[in-house]
Amino acid sequence: VSTELDGRMRFCTRCPELVATRTQVVVGDRPAGARLLVIGEAPGAQEDVVGRPFVGRSGQLLDALLEEVGHPRHQVAVINTVKCRPPANRVPTSQETATCRDWTVALIDSVDPRVTVTLGLSATRWMVKTPTLSAVRGKALEVDGRTVLPTYHPAAALRGGPNGEAMVRLREDLALAVSLL
Ligand code: SF4
Repeated sequence: VSTELDGRMRFCTRCPELVATRTQVVVGDRPAGARLLVIGEAPGAQEDVVGRPFVGRSGQLLDALLEEVGHPRHQVAVINTVKCRPPANRVPTSQETATCRDWTVALIDSVDPRVTVTLGLSATRWMVKTPTLSAVRGKALEVDGRTVLPTYHPAAALRGGPNGEAMVRLREDLALAVSLL
């Protein structure tokens, strides 16, 4: 859905370093009636050009796994904790993530998902206080009245290969998330 919120976000200039190099603000996908929300860290090069989250290799893997577990991507809301691509894909600073927090909260509220999956440690830490991803991965947690399920980032699954731990767990965790919808 495209809303007034999207319109305001597209003109956001709160993070000077990101504004200087971004092509556009990647607001995220919010299909009407989405019950599953997936949260990543930040847009990469392809997302910055296309204007949608998770369209590169990680996105293609995410799409394939969602299809496999019976809940295709077009039914899923997908956002990042930071909406503008950091230069050279550096990790967003804690300041940038904090600055974008209001937008992220507004997006989550507008989706009002039944289950939220956080991909990787950075997105997980946005929602859950944890020293490591493994401490919470695969667990359905209650956070501020929402069900949150942390898992691996698809980039980690790609790095580990088709039979690697991250791929196996990511697939399992997405299936678990869908079973909770
Ligand atoms: S990352 Fe978020 S807060 Fe920073 S400029 Fe982009 S939309 Fe604004």
